[in-house]
Amino acid sequence: MPEDSLLHHALVRLDEAATHLSIDPDVIEKLKYARETTKVRLMIRMDDGSRKSFLAWRCRYDDTRGPTKGGIRFHPDATADEVETLAFWMTFKCAVMNLPYGGGKGAVQVDPRKLSKAEVERLSRAYIQAFARILGPDRDIPAPDVYTNSMIMGWMADEYAQIVGQAEPAVITGKPIALGGSLGRGDATARGGYYLVRHLAGDLGLASTMRVAIQGFGNAGQHIARLLAADGHKIVAVSDSEGAVASPAGLHVDMLLQAKEAGRSVTSTVGQGGHELLSARDLVGVDCDLLVPAALENMVDAANAATVKAKLVLELANGPVTPEADRILADKGVIILPDILANAGGVTVSYFEWVQNRQGFYWAVEEIHDRLRAIMEREGRAIWNVSRDKGVTMRTAAYVHALGRLAEAIEAHGTQSFFTS
Ligand code: GLU
Repeated sequence: MPEDSLLHHALVRLDEAATHLSIDPDVIEKLKYARETTKVRLMIRMDDGSRKSFLAWRCRYDDTRGPTKGGIRFHPDATADEVETLAFWMTFKCAVMNLPYGGGKGAVQVDPRKLSKAEVERLSRAYIQAFARILGPDRDIPAPDVYTNSMIMGWMADEYAQIVGQAEPAVITGKPIALGGSLGRGDATARGGYYLVRHLAGDLGLASTMRVAIQGFGNAGQHIARLLAADGHKIVAVSDSEGAVASPAGLHVDMLLQAKEAGRSVTSTVGQGGHELLSARDLVGVDCDLLVPAALENMVDAANAATVKAKLVLELANGPVTPEADRILADKGVIILPDILANAGGVTVSYFEWVQNRQGFYWAVEEIHDRLRAIMEREGRAIWNVSRDKGVTMRTAAYVHALGRLAEAIEAHGTQSFFTS
């Protein structure tokens, strides 16, 4: 495996966690390789009648604890290495939350913002046509991720139903409510992180009014801004793919949400209500108490970690902090609530959706919130305790916590021969 690969970096965390547990080295070896990664080229017809092809993948990283679970990302920079790494993180995330799932992930190398709605629909259906044989409610269950949403999940569920000849809502989560989606799935990623911060606020010594900087203003970024602002915290800076805005007195969150709703960048609010333009590169170093990376991988790296002023980082994105940056931040005393715990609210409510689909009985939103809060608090507290007991970071503690569960399941399966791609 190349040393500069994303998966290689992710495995550093596995090796680190393994030093704190006495487990069979075979278990670690098994977790170092994806079980299967399928690559296809999707060919779709564009609106102008031409045909265009897009690379696409689905990785089932590990299914020891249950069917593989994880989103599908549409992004121009998607690679096989990134998909496998995201699937590795899903394996640990589901184990952290004790969900009966393994980890998977999919991607299409495309910029969906450059496609028409009809083209995105054809691409989404083509994805399911290509991968239907490896998906299934007991096999591999996709969901939304970067630049995919409930509308896309609806098209995908519809395509799958046509292929298998019957409605099979539990094959995919994050669907529109009308097609068996769950209440509370829309803001679940941010809400899970919000419950976690609230629960650990006393232990972390957090101020009752925090200044918050949010990097990335998609689903997770928008909802965390709304939830924290409603509790009286001040959102002092946010960025999206076009730039950043800041206001030491606090940004007007409603104005930012309205801009996004209208399809505009957060930077379109500059000049109103004290919003000032900021370079997106400078967001990580903004003077604040809480930094929330809510975009892509490797946003905090060796080059900018020293500029971080926040005392707490809530990783709503997957893999936003590199291992080198981890060390720099730990030396500065910055606490990181790691991705595999902090953003696990999304997959947890996906699990609730799958359960509801299978039982054909749907829960009220209050029940979703209560169950999500209970699980975030239970697992967050357990990881906090591991971190205190072993004197390790919250990230290492989360990996130790998950690895214990994964090892137990791998051993319980017996001496099967493992096969990986
Ligand atoms: N894409 C989300 C994640 O990275 C959600 C996955 C899911 O719901 O299966 O956790």
